[in-house]
Amino acid sequence: MTDVFVRVAVDQPMPVLFDYRYGLPDVPVVGMLVQVPFGRREVVGLICEIADTSDVPASKLRGVTAVCGACPPLSETWIALAGFAADYYQRGLGEVALPAMPQALRDAARWERLFAVEPRYRMLAEGRAQLPEALPARAIALRRLADALAQEPSLALSDARALHPKASATFDDWLARGWIEETVTADVAGLESLMPALPTGTAPLPVLTDEQRDAVDAISGAQGFAPFLLHGVTGSGKTEVYLHALAALLAARPDAQALVLVPEINLTPQFEAAFRARFAALADGAIVTMHSGLAEGERARNWLAAHTGGARIVLGTRLAILASMPKLAIIVVDEEHDPAYKQQEGLRYSARDLAIYRAKQLDVPVVLGSATPSLETWWQAEQGRYTRLTLARRAVAEAALPSVRLIDLEEERRRGRASVEGLAGPLIAALKSRVERGEQSLVFLNRRGYAPILSCDACGWVAGCPRCSAYAVLHKPERALRCHHCGWESRIPKSCPECGNIDIAPMGRGTQRVEETLASVVPGARVLRIDADSTRRKGSAQALFSDVHAGEVDILVGTQMIAKGHDFRRVTLVGVLNADTALFSHDFRASERLFAQLTQVSGRAGRAGLPGEVMIQTRYPRHALYQALSRQDYVGFANSTLAERRDARLPPFVYQAMLRAEGRTLDAALAFLKQAAAAFAPLPGADRVTVYDAVPLTIVKVFNVHRAQLLLESASRAALQASLRAWQPELRALKGVLRWNVEVDPLDV
Ligand code: ADP
Ligand code: ZN
Ligand code: ZN
Repeated sequence: MTDVFVRVAVDQPMPVLFDYRYGLPDVPVVGMLVQVPFGRREVVGLICEIADTSDVPASKLRGVTAVCGACPPLSETWIALAGFAADYYQRGLGEVALPAMPQALRDAARWERLFAVEPRYRMLAEGRAQLPEALPARAIALRRLADALAQEPSLALSDARALHPKASATFDDWLARGWIEETVTADVAGLESLMPALPTGTAPLPVLTDEQRDAVDAISGAQGFAPFLLHGVTGSGKTEVYLHALAALLAARPDAQALVLVPEINLTPQFEAAFRARFAALADGAIVTMHSGLAEGERARNWLAAHTGGARIVLGTRLAILASMPKLAIIVVDEEHDPAYKQQEGLRYSARDLAIYRAKQLDVPVVLGSATPSLETWWQAEQGRYTRLTLARRAVAEAALPSVRLIDLEEERRRGRASVEGLAGPLIAALKSRVERGEQSLVFLNRRGYAPILSCDACGWVAGCPRCSAYAVLHKPERALRCHHCGWESRIPKSCPECGNIDIAPMGRGTQRVEETLASVVPGARVLRIDADSTRRKGSAQALFSDVHAGEVDILVGTQMIAKGHDFRRVTLVGVLNADTALFSHDFRASERLFAQLTQVSGRAGRAGLPGEVMIQTRYPRHALYQALSRQDYVGFANSTLAERRDARLPPFVYQAMLRAEGRTLDAALAFLKQAAAAFAPLPGADRVTVYDAVPLTIVKVFNVHRAQLLLESASRAALQASLRAWQPELRALKGVLRWNVEVDPLDV
C-alpha cells in the first residue's frame, strides 16, 4: 500500500500548508475537515491537497488524528475563494478558511454531537384533536410544548427541552397515547432533503414601479458575472427589487441559493421580516441568518444548512460573505457604502469587495444597493464596469423626499435669537409643532467629536483618561466618567482636581444632555434616547424601536443607530446637530460618510404620505456638502468629490495599504515602522509604491500601548500586492513591537 499525505491549512499566522501522513479508513478528499497534532495541541484543519509524497522528513511527519466524515467536504471553489482573500489581505489560507467556519466545527470533540441524529417529534391527528382537552389549564409549560408541536412540522428534542425541562418523559407518554410520532432525521441530513419549491403568489405583491420593474428585469435577465449598482433614493423600494429578483431566480432554479448581506441585522429587523414574509412558503430552515449575535449552536446549524444546500437564502452580516454555499447564484449587498462591511480586526477584509470577487468567480450577478454609494463603487459605475440601475423616486407615490433646511447658527447668534443648550430656535419651534400635531421627530447627533466631556470653566481642565490620551466621556445617570477607548471608569469628581472649583460642567452635548434639554424645552414631549449606552442590553434596541413604531414616542434622540434602515412611519421632522466636525476631519473619507449618514437619516422623514422636513444646524451653510444635500444631489456630490480625489491622488484613484504597529513606547513603534520601510524599498514592485512617514496614531496611547502607522500607496494594485507579499517574511523577521498588522484598502487613514 502506498503512503498518502495530506496538506492541511490550520489557523496559524503562516502562509503555508502543513504536511501530514494520512492513515484513516475514510478516503481523504480535498475540503474535508481533519483533526491534526500541531505543536503540543490538537487542532482542526482543512485538507487542501492530497499527495503521494512529502518533502518533510519521515521522522518529522505526524499523522491525521481524526476526520469529520459527516461534514460534506468544502468545495475547491470555496477553498479558492478563501485562498484569494488570504492572498489579497496578506494572510495564510488557514487564517481565513478556519475562522470562516462556526466554532463548533473547529472543535473535533464536538463533531459527533454536531452531526448526531437527534430525535424529532411530530404531532399526529389524534394529538391535535385530544391534546388540548387533555392538558390541565394551568400546565403552562406543557401547553407551550403542545403549541410548538402543533405549529411546527416537527420539533427537535433539544428545542422541546428548552420549552419544558421534562420534555423527554412527556413525549414518551404522548407517544404511548398515539398523539405524536418520532421522526428521526439528523439536522443536516434533514436540511439536505429540503429542496422546496417556491410559493406561487401567496400574499398579493406590491405592484412594482416602472423603475423597480426595469431594475428587476435587468438583474433577472443577467447572464454570468454581472455587477449592478442599484442606486435608489431612500424609500425607493430597493428591498422590493431584491425580493423580486430573488423570487424569480429561486423559482427558476430549484436548487439555487442567494446570499443577501446587510450591514447590521439587529438594527434592521424589518428587513429580515420582509424576507421571511415573502418567502414564507419555503420549507423550514430555507432562510437562515448569519451574524455574530447568533448563539453558537444556531450559527453552526445555519452554516451547515448553507453548506449542504438546505438554506436557499442566507441573510447575513459581513462574515456571511465567506459562507459555503455550493449553489450560490446571486449576491446582494444592501447599503453597500456602509463601513460595517469592513472587518476591523483579524482578517481586515471588505465583504463588499469579496462579494464582487465571489460573483466573478462563480459567474453570477451581484447587486450593490445604496442611496449613497461608496465613491469606489460609484467610480466603477461611472466607468461602465458596473451596470447602474436608478430608482430616482420613492416607491410610495405620496411619500415625497423631505425638504432640507439649513439653520445658520452664526446668523442665529448675530440676530440674537435664543438657542437653548445648542438647540436653535427654529428647530425647537418645529419640534413643538410636530408634538402638537401628533407627529414624530428624530434628533440626530453626529457621534464623532460629540461625546459629552467634563471640563472646568475656571482653569480649562478637561477630564481625561489616565491610561489613554483620550478624553473621558461623561455618563450622567451613573455619575461616571468612562473612557470609550480602553474602558477605564471612575466617579465624577466633586470639584476640579486642578483648581478646586466646584462648578465643573459638561462640555459638548451628548445624547443624554440633548434628551434632558428636549424634555425641558418641549414640555409634554415623550423623548426617547437610543444609542450604544441605552441599548447595551441584548434585544433592548428592538424593544425601544418597537415603542417608536407603536407611536409611544414623540421625539427620538440618537446617534448613527437611528439613521439605519428603520422605516418609522410617522416621522416628519429630522433635526441634525453638530455635523460640522466631520467637515474638518483629517480623514479624507469623513465628508463622504457624513453625506451618506445625513442622507440616510433624512430618509427617515416623510415616508407615510406626510411631508417630511430636515433641519441641519451648521456654522457653514454654504459648504458644498450641505448645498448638495439640500438639493438631494448625490450625483453632484459624488462627482465633485471624485474630482477632488483625483486631483489629490486619493482612492479610488490610488490603492492604499497600512502597516500598523503597537509598542510599549512610541519610539519602539516608530522604530519598527522605520525598519519596515527600509526593508520595503528593495522589494519587487516597491519602486511603484509611495511609502509615507510613520505617524503616531491620533489616539496614541490605549491601555499603555502606543500605536503608530505607515501608509503605502500606489497607482498600481498589482505592484502594491506584489510588494506587500514579498514584505511579509521581512516583517516577520523584525522585532521590537508587541503587535503589527497590514491592512489592505484601509478605511480609516
Ligand atoms: P429603500 O430601501 O430603498 O429605502 P424600502 O425598500 O425600505 O426603500 O421601501 C420603502 C417603502 O416602500 C417600504 O415601506 C416598502 O414596503 C414600500 N414599497 C416598496 N416598493 C413598493 C411598491 N412598488 N408599491 C408600494 N409600496 C412599495
Ligand atoms: Zn479647574
Ligand atoms: Zn482609556
